[in-house]
Amino acid sequence: MESKTDILIIGGGVIGVCSAYFLAQHGARVTLIEKDEIASGCSYGNGGLIVPSHAVPLASPGAFGDGLRWLFDSESPFYIKPRIDAELIRWLARFAWASREGQMLRSMPVLRDLLFASRLLYEELAKTAGFEFGFEGKGSLLVCLTRQALEKERREIRLFEEFKIPASMVNRDEALGLEPALLPSIMGGVYYPRDGRIDPRRFVVGLAEKASGLGAQLHTKTEAIGFESNRGRVTKVRTTRGELTANQIILASGSWSPQVARALKLRVPIQPAKGYSVTVENPPVTPRLPLLFSEARVVINPLGHALRIAGTLELAGMDFSFNPRRVAAMQNASAEYLPGLAEAKVIEIWRGLRPCAPDGLPIISRVKKLENVIVAAGHAMLGMSLGPITGKLVSQLARGEASQLDLTPFSAQRF
Ligand SMILES: Cc1cc2nc3c(=O)[nH]c(=O)nc-3n(C[C@H](O)[C@H](O)[C@H](O)COP(=O)(O)OP(=O)(O)OC[C@H]3O[C@@H](n4cnc5c(N)ncnc54)[C@H](O)[C@@H]3O)c2cc1C
Repeated sequence: MESKTDILIIGGGVIGVCSAYFLAQHGARVTLIEKDEIASGCSYGNGGLIVPSHAVPLASPGAFGDGLRWLFDSESPFYIKPRIDAELIRWLARFAWASREGQMLRSMPVLRDLLFASRLLYEELAKTAGFEFGFEGKGSLLVCLTRQALEKERREIRLFEEFKIPASMVNRDEALGLEPALLPSIMGGVYYPRDGRIDPRRFVVGLAEKASGLGAQLHTKTEAIGFESNRGRVTKVRTTRGELTANQIILASGSWSPQVARALKLRVPIQPAKGYSVTVENPPVTPRLPLLFSEARVVINPLGHALRIAGTLELAGMDFSFNPRRVAAMQNASAEYLPGLAEAKVIEIWRGLRPCAPDGLPIISRVKKLENVIVAAGHAMLGMSLGPITGKLVSQLARGEASQLDLTPFSAQRF
């Protein structure tokens, strides 16, 4: 490993790799270090849905109540592990504050613009020669089993109309016409024509190869373990494979970001939110579209060679333990929408920690205390959807170019 670089990225998930790619594309001298393998963190086995429709931030009216309602139910899709943790309590207070309706309405257009800009970049990246990552942009279908859930979606769709996010209610027959693989017992749903899907690991690993082809240096099994700073600048990064100096440092370490930031004496208010995925052999009838199951709170990604079920959100700290009952509950609940899922043979069970900022918006920002550090983290449930635009914004920020979007809402100083 060369001991000097211009821009050092810490973390080889979707955010770090997209940043490395856009920086290398502009001729920057960039090095990325990853403590494990590329796409071995949250960017490995996630749902892989590209969802410009998800402009309602995680912090929204009802979300906090849901968390509290399910505080002691370890099989529910949303769960907060009861514990005394000052960082968690502070985070929850901020989350509750950001969940007010007025704040959600202010965040929605911000998130919408970010999501749509990212979706456009996916279309461009999908045209890159020799880069196949399973991108399909034919929309997604949210499916409801009950009238109650359908009514809830109907209320939300008014919000979508107001913010010009394409979405249309579909009745049972229309839903079955869009997706014949569904069970006829469903009630209806919502079609989001701008949504899409990818194979997340293939995307991140493939883009890392492209970045490397453009000159980026990628070092796996290399962990940042300490820093030296002087007069408001980081002067040295200690890694498990030697020391590095860099003019700028990008912290793209997902749920590990608070830990890495602590070594820089910075506070980054991100809480990990565990989710699971189960990748199963294709059922007899495979869906054509990516699907979102309303009551079960899971997403389905037809990967082609297999089918992935992903969901649950558990605020339990940096806890990688498996809860088999939760995984089984997810698979069984999905079988109420699609036939053959309960008995489908499991290929892989996975869990990942979503890096969640308390207000549902990511952090894409320089920090006040250290002039050569940029934080790019906190993308929560939308990291795959927002990866490309985040990488582009980081590249613009690091190269001192004007940002294509206003970065004020993503400032690290807002907390
Ligand atoms: C069940 C589930 C389903 C999801 N479904 C979707 C979906 O359908 N659509 C969507 O848009 N998003 C989805 N997400 C969210 C998405 O997966 C995340 O937002 C995204 O992967 C976060 O990317 P990241 O690069 O910030 O973090 P990560 O992918 O976790 O990358 C951070 C990397 O930093 C490395 N690292 C940490 N510390 C150090 C260090 N000190 N030195 C070097 N390297 C270090 C880690 O090893 C890791 O590889 C889902 C998440 C889950 C859990």
